[in-house]
Formats: sequence, structure tokens, C-alpha cells
Amino acid sequence: MPELPDLTIVAEALYASLAGRSIAKAETLAPLAVRGTPAELAALVGQRVDRIARRGKFLVLHLERDQVVFNPMLTGRFQLAAPKEKLPPKTALVLGFGGRTSGRGGRPSGGPADAARWTRGAAWMPADDASVEVRYRDPTQMGKVYLVPAGVDRPVPGFGEGEQGPDADDPALTLEAWRDRIRRHPGELKNLLRNQAFVAGIGNAYSDEILHAARLLPFRKRSSLAPEEVDALYEATRTTLADAIEVLRERVPPTFEKQVRDFLAVHDKGGQPCPRCRTKITEIKPGGFITSYCRGCQR
Ligand SMILES: [Zn+2]
Repeated sequence: MPELPDLTIVAEALYASLAGRSIAKAETLAPLAVRGTPAELAALVGQRVDRIARRGKFLVLHLERDQVVFNPMLTGRFQLAAPKEKLPPKTALVLGFGGRTSGRGGRPSGGPADAARWTRGAAWMPADDASVEVRYRDPTQMGKVYLVPAGVDRPVPGFGEGEQGPDADDPALTLEAWRDRIRRHPGELKNLLRNQAFVAGIGNAYSDEILHAARLLPFRKRSSLAPEEVDALYEATRTTLADAIEVLRERVPPTFEKQVRDFLAVHDKGGQPCPRCRTKITEIKPGGFITSYCRGCQR
């Protein structure tokens, strides 16, 4: 499941690649995955990309007039490709983009000045005068794409104001704000971290990683934490996500549809030695979702 670090990379790469380009083609191959009418899809053509951003576990394409909100759920993935490249199986939506031009005079404008630094001059970046496609594919078709035309009040479940807390890496989420928010949630720590209303962007994999970094067991109750453990959980959340983003910037491009998880410390590493204390990592699967932790160094 794409989580905050995965989608941050995709958002940064797509923004750097597509800002200033206009949609030349919008085509759905799996209409059930797209919430919106054929007319709304067709109306995307001609609109220029203003911004592409991640919010929680959603990716939002801000066009000059409308928005497209992606909720990839478990298996939704994004591919950046030249139009001539073979379409991957289970592609649900193809958005084609023309060359990059400035709003005035149609001259090539280069990438956006506020693109993430790691994307500058990257070899995978499509040339400004080349056409490029974003293919959204989803083998399980559990994810959804929401077309949100200006002036249309289309609900996007889980995305609305009040449904998501601050992003887990939001600079406004200070230690003080964290201490305040966490007081409302007495339950188990793994569920707490995955609760998008507490903080947004963390799922099954990174909750395991954060808890290992904080040396806390996934089934500990928040109500049992000492104040310094609450603070340690905050610190672990920030560093785990930031470190993962750094790794993924190196490892993911140019195949943005690839989910890189092999560098994680405990998640899905059941039976292997803990990188901190060498105890064999415990893995259980409540409800079919893997939870991995170390009995040796998590309390
Ligand atoms: Zn350990």
C-alpha cells in the first residue's frame, strides 16, 4: 500500500515532470475505478497542471480549473512513461500531456522553480518538448480516482476536512501539537498510527517501522505511555518517514510504479534478526495485515 514516503516521491516527481504541461488525452480503461462522468473526464483535456501534491494517502492533481484526486488504496500505482511505451496490464486511467510551455506565448518554460531539488536534472525527467503519459494502474481495482470539477461537490471518502488529521510530516505538527492530539486516542499504538484522523499518511508498513524506531510494541496502549515515550514516538515518526523518503529518492526512479520496501528494519521481515538487537523478528497477521516487531528491544 503506498504510504506517505512512497506517495511523496511520486508527487515530487510528477510535479517536476508535468507542471506547465496541459492534458492532451484523458482515457479510462477501467471505468469502475473512476468516479466522474465521461463528460467530466473529457473536460480535463486542455487544462494545464498547476500543482501535484500528496495529502495523507491521496495524490491530488491540481489543474488550472479542476482537480483529480487519487486514492490508490492497496495496489494503485503510477507510471510515468513515453506514449509509445507498452501500456501495463490493469491500467485504469491514462492521462497524456503535451510539451511544457509557459502560459504566455507558448514558449518552452523548463521545470517549475519550486520542484524538489532531487528532481533537478534527473535523467528520467521527460524533455520539455516531449509528450508524456501518466498511467494509473490497479490490479485489485480497490483504489479510486475522483474527478472533482470546479463547482462540483463530489465527496471523496476519507479526504474531506475533518476526516484527516495533519500530515505526519507536516511542519505545523510540532511536538506540542502531537502531545495534544494523542491525548484523544487511548488505544493500541499500531492502530493509533494508522488512524488517518490522528495523523495522515501512515499505513501498515511504516507504523511497524516507527514503533520499532521508538522501541514500543504495536499492541501497547497509548494510555500506558510515559510522557517521554509519547515524545519518543513523535521523534521516531518524523525521522522514520524522513529517512525513508531519502532512501526512496535514490531507489525508486525511474520506475515510480515500483514499491521499494526491502530496506525496512522490521516490517515483513519475520524470522530475520532484528537490526538493532539480533532477536528474531516476530510476525503476526491479524485480519490478514502483517504486523512485525521485535520482542527483544520493543517494550
Ligand atoms: Zn530488536
